[in-house]
Order: sequence, then C-alpha cells, then structure tokens
Amino acid sequence: MSELRDLYQEVILDHAKRPRNFGRPERFDHEAHGHNPLCGDKVDIFVILGEGGTVEDVRFEGRGCAISMASASLMTELLKGKTETEARTLFEHFHEMVTHEAGGDALPDAAPDDLERLEVLAGVRQFPMRVKCATLPWHTFNAALASERADGVTTE
Ligand code: ZN
Repeated sequence: MSELRDLYQEVILDHAKRPRNFGRPERFDHEAHGHNPLCGDKVDIFVILGEGGTVEDVRFEGRGCAISMASASLMTELLKGKTETEARTLFEHFHEMVTHEAGGDALPDAAPDDLERLEVLAGVRQFPMRVKCATLPWHTFNAALASERADGVTTE
C-alpha cells in the first residue's frame, strides 16, 4: 500500500512541477478566478467551448500547493472534449472520492479511466484541509462555465 502511495505522490509532484495546459490562452469563452484562503491556492481557469458546447480546451494559471496545482493539471487533461454534463458528472464523482471512503453508487456513470486517473488524489480525504486544495480547480471550472462571456468583463 505504501508503494502505491509513493507512486501517487510521484504523479502529484510531476503534475505540480510540470503542469499541463498551463498558461492563459489568447482567446477563451469563459474564465473564473478561484482562491482557497485556507492554503493560499490561487487558480484562474480559462475555457474554450467548441461545437455543441463541448469543452474544446481548458487551461489554467495559478500558484499554490502541489495538490492544487496537480489537481488543476489533471483536470484540464480530463475535461478536454467533455460536454458540460460529462464534466459535471466527473466532478461529482471526484468530489465523492475525496470526501468519502466509498460511495458514488448513486451517481451517474463516469468514464472509469478518468476516475482511475483521479484516484491519485483520493488520499486527501484523510486531510480535510487538503480537500479544498483538490477541489478548488473544479469549483473554479464550474464558476467559469456559469459566468458570462469573458470578453471585456472585469470584476476588479
Ligand atoms: Zn493547497
């Protein structure tokens, strides 16, 4: 079991050190800013929508702990090509995974491969403070989708 934990740790550190899909794209349809004051994590999510509202691309910028950066990096990889509904379903499963020992039975089906990749972050459920680090990018993604088109909009 500890070998498995080491492997997960390695995956998390790899994503945190070399985050995928990092950087602000030139054009995007939605964006949102997320902040986790408990840990100091900050993340900006940029979403580009394609045909029929599928996620054509999703990128992020931010600074924070390894868990928050790895979660954002993994999330951007998994959400590409998803519909809004599929993205929400995946988040529901992920949220369940990081907050409960078992469960998710009552949730709609999500792609097993995706859930397997997210499994590296499941260990945070033993550390309630860390759950917010792991879920921050996902909450921010949802907020981005719910926001108006980002063109010319500023809240600051
Ligand atoms: Zn954090």
